[in-house]
Amino acid sequence: MSLIVQKYGGTSVGDTGRILNVAKRIKTFVDGGNQVVVVVSARSGVTNELIARAKTFSPEPDEREMDMLLAVGEQETIALTAMALHSLGVKAVSRTGAQAGIITDDAHTRARIVEITGGDIRECLDRGEVVIVAGFQGIDRHGNVSTLGRGGSDLSAIALAAALKADVCQIYTDVSGVYTADPRVVKNARKIPEMSYEELLEMASLGSKVMQARSVEFAQKHNVVFEVRSSFNNEPGTIVKSEAPSLEDVVISGVAIDRNQTKVTVSDIPDKPGTAADIFRELGEAGIVVDMIVQNVGRGGKANLTFTVSKDDAAKAEKVLRAHCDGIKGATVSITGDIAKVSVIGTGMRSHSGVAAKFFQTLAENSINVQIITTSEIKISVGISLEDADLAANALHAAFALDK
Ligand code: ADP
Ligand code: ASP
Ligand code: MG
Repeated sequence: MSLIVQKYGGTSVGDTGRILNVAKRIKTFVDGGNQVVVVVSARSGVTNELIARAKTFSPEPDEREMDMLLAVGEQETIALTAMALHSLGVKAVSRTGAQAGIITDDAHTRARIVEITGGDIRECLDRGEVVIVAGFQGIDRHGNVSTLGRGGSDLSAIALAAALKADVCQIYTDVSGVYTADPRVVKNARKIPEMSYEELLEMASLGSKVMQARSVEFAQKHNVVFEVRSSFNNEPGTIVKSEAPSLEDVVISGVAIDRNQTKVTVSDIPDKPGTAADIFRELGEAGIVVDMIVQNVGRGGKANLTFTVSKDDAAKAEKVLRAHCDGIKGATVSITGDIAKVSVIGTGMRSHSGVAAKFFQTLAENSINVQIITTSEIKISVGISLEDADLAANALHAAFALDK
């Protein structure tokens, strides 16, 4: 008998018909003699809809109340999934994050897991029940509901698999695995049969939303091997583990698109040591992550600093920066619009030259204008206009022969 942790994402539980299909799939594992813990997301669209409603009152709603609101989406799905299993004659109980003992810190909307007690999950399993746990949510030490950041049901599943020492962890989604690029954008993207945590973490951090980046980081830290696969077919998916074969020989392993970036420019700030440090410290203290950065060469003792933040943080960043600029004569802040970040990733880049040349040549041949650039030893990223994102991803995918 194996202990299996499965996670079903928003599209997989998008309506009652799909929830019944998920229940049928779970039943096959129960009939096979396994113990099953299932993590489910909110129906697709529900979390976005709740966020939009909250924002009718304020661009920055109170974060504790936000968590109270957002946790509703997953709570609907756990109950419906349990009922669907009952309709098939399978014993099942639902548990909220709090009931499953998912204890977090109090950083509302992006809480970190500090401990998982598991609640009474073990007892339920021993009674032959499937346990359906609400993804994305936990509880802090004071009993407040918390959430784990967008896409956080992935983290709930990986963390539960680690805490329960599950034999198998399966992440069911609406594509058949992790591909060399988003298969909805790049039609000839290839499924990657096996990959390392490092490689997937880089893809996820760069905006491939197939897995939440934090969940991959957690899996790496706790050595949770997992499979990303489809809830709509029975194809083998992508196995993610510490060492994956042959990737050293592959220079580029994937292309990622992130459409969630906003460009911010702070103009006419003093061109002297400490200016950037002050700005980034204040943003950091407000919990804002800064991504791509360029500083224009100063003129007349003044400089301009341009960088990107996640779209969700733009309003907060603007507030922090306006307060900063209030004390500096002539300094101004402008939110210069949403952009896309397109990246190529590959650990093989460490030992190969010519990648940057091919990358920028490809963009040039497609008349794509680059606004910001960042690189690391295993990736190159550019900020470009949102309209150019699909073209850039397809062109780079072809240029690096990822379809071969
Ligand atoms: P879920 O609701 O199951 O958590 P998500 O929408 O969060 O699903 O993630 C799955 C989506 O990720 C896919 O529909 C696909 O469009 C997108 N995606 C982006 N990059 C990739 C990639 N490299 N491989 C597979 N899917 C990707
Ligand atoms: N429902 C949450 C979200 O949309 C969590 C998840 O789906 O993983 O971000
Ligand atoms: Mg997701």
